[in-house]
Amino acid sequence: MNIVVQKYGGTSVGSVERIKNVAKRIIEKKKSGHQIVVVVSAMGKTTDDLVKLAYDISKAPPKRELDRLLSTGEQISISLLSMALQAMGHDAISFTGPQVGIRTSGRHTKSRIEGIDTTKILDALNEDKIVIVAGFQGVNENDDVTTLGRGGSDTSAVALACVLDAPCEIYTDVEGIYGVDPRLYPQAKKLDTVNYEEMLEMASLGAGVMHPRAIELGSKYNTKILVASSMLDLPGTIIKKGEHNMEGQSITGLAIDNDETMITIRNIPFDLNITSHFFSQLANKSINIDMISQSAPIDGFINISFTAPTSDLEDAKIILSAFEEKHPGIRILINENVSKLSVVGVGMRSQSGVAAKFFQLLSDNDIQMLMITTSEIRISCIIKSKDRELAVTETAKAFDL
Ligand code: ADP
Ligand code: ASP
Ligand code: MG
Repeated sequence: MNIVVQKYGGTSVGSVERIKNVAKRIIEKKKSGHQIVVVVSAMGKTTDDLVKLAYDISKAPPKRELDRLLSTGEQISISLLSMALQAMGHDAISFTGPQVGIRTSGRHTKSRIEGIDTTKILDALNEDKIVIVAGFQGVNENDDVTTLGRGGSDTSAVALACVLDAPCEIYTDVEGIYGVDPRLYPQAKKLDTVNYEEMLEMASLGAGVMHPRAIELGSKYNTKILVASSMLDLPGTIIKKGEHNMEGQSITGLAIDNDETMITIRNIPFDLNITSHFFSQLANKSINIDMISQSAPIDGFINISFTAPTSDLEDAKIILSAFEEKHPGIRILINENVSKLSVVGVGMRSQSGVAAKFFQLLSDNDIQMLMITTSEIRISCIIKSKDRELAVTETAKAFDL
């Protein structure tokens, strides 16, 4: 069998005309001798609108109900796409995530795919149907509908490609993966290829073009992923295993994340039990801590700064208040006006001086670094949000991205 999994994002199915365009592209692919499984996202801004509706009704909508609501967006687009294909004379069938046995575990709104039962999909393909699957959703052990986190349709598509042992084509509203989000830096260069490791870092650090978990799965199963335009017939970018893609480049790309909040707690008694208990409480609430730095103890007290997604701030505040009640001497500072700027590249492994160059260019532009972390292939720093445009442009120029 010559199966291919294609995924079309929200903008690409954002109107009747666009759905028809997608249908035509699918038919062309089928005519070239492929069996096609298509994953689609909700139309345009549907998911945003649904989230807004939920929060208009309730300050803290129950996550189970939120998942049920959000999963409806993709149900509209799968059925419309199936109708479009059938109107064009091609047999197609749409399925929700639960219908094709996309089993998930973990918390509502942040679930992870555990496994997929391919029986229904393979049966439909054998009947020469085009199979359309709703992205972003699955079903948990209680038979409740779950979602995979915003942007999760990429993960649905790659997961399907992994279990069907097929390549995955992600069609979107840009021509591929660029060194920098082309909306932030229009001169950005498109990458022909990028390896899983770099793409995973970029995606996790805020390059919203791909859902990080999709890259994790692709890497685990060695599934080739193409990212390309849903409108133009251009080569796009291939995400695959491999070493460096551009000889001599120390940095492959940069990412900026504006959804992090920096929290600083001053005057914490220097006691590992106190610190670990505090972070365990955040973990129990599934709050994803990103960067952490701790000052050296002075007179038995330390300061700790950390960052967490702004969407988790309300949950974090409850834990912070309880911590303050227990340790009244502490001082809590919350700074939402920060951005995390990261540069990523496997070239950093073999080239020295990248950090020095990065810090120098920020300093030359009077951009303050509030926190820094590094790994073997990335450097991230927290900067003030007001500096982000300048920081992106100057970093992109300096590293020729
Ligand atoms: P879709 O709805 O197709 O899933 P997304 O909005 O999730 O599309 O992702 C595509 C967007 O990702 C682009 O419009 C672009 O602005 C953004 N983006 C962020 N970083 C990058 C990057 N490095 N390369 C390409 N696009 C990027
Ligand atoms: N519709 C979902 C979202 O907007 C999933 C996706 O588009 O990938 O986040
Ligand atoms: Mg997306």
